[in-house]
Amino acid sequence: MEGVARCPQCAFELDSEDSVICLKCGYNLQTRTRTQTVVVFESSFWDWAKWLAPGIFFALVTLVAIGTICYFWLALQGWDENGKPTWIFAIVQVWGSVICAGIGWRTGKFAYHRLVVNPHPPEQLKR
Ligand SMILES: [Zn+2]
Repeated sequence: MEGVARCPQCAFELDSEDSVICLKCGYNLQTRTRTQTVVVFESSFWDWAKWLAPGIFFALVTLVAIGTICYFWLALQGWDENGKPTWIFAIVQVWGSVICAGIGWRTGKFAYHRLVVNPHPPEQLKR
């Protein structure tokens, strides 16, 4: 046959002369390497829900932690009658903020990775 481009790996008919990847076997004609192809199950609504729910939950926890820090520093009143901060107020404000910042950092990092960096649920291979 003339004028038909074929894959050098599996002889499958390519779409055009300048096709780069064979759609049947995954052979790359430019790098001359074979890409592994896998067949996976389509992600269902529940796969998405199970994958994204922890990220959404931890994003909300992060917002609550940020809000708690704002509350400690902006709204919490802990001065005695002389205008000096009480020691219990200082402990709650400082250590509460440190603990909330730690919780917010960890949960925010998880939420960012789950919702922004890697939002797709893991694929399950068909055997
Ligand atoms: Zn091929």
